[in-house]
Amino acid sequence: MAHLTVDFRCRKDENRGIYYEETNRCLIFLGSHETLEDIYKTITHEVLHHCFMADDVDKMDEEQEETLVHFVQWADVAL
Ligand SMILES: [Zn+2]
Repeated sequence: MAHLTVDFRCRKDENRGIYYEETNRCLIFLGSHETLEDIYKTITHEVLHHCFMADDVDKMDEEQEETLVHFVQWADVAL
């Protein structure tokens, strides 16, 4: 799996974070968050997108991937 770069921007954006598959880079927009925990959740969200791009993971469309990220993020509460 290719290395992932996580980069931060202080400004607010319509996205809280975004993952660029073509460059294996996440951008986290700090101004779009209210708490540190919120920022950690967004970092985890974008890192999961990167993990789901691994060659040995079945390909998903965007909706399937967002749903799986959502389930993983809530898994600790549901268990
Ligand atoms: Zn996402």
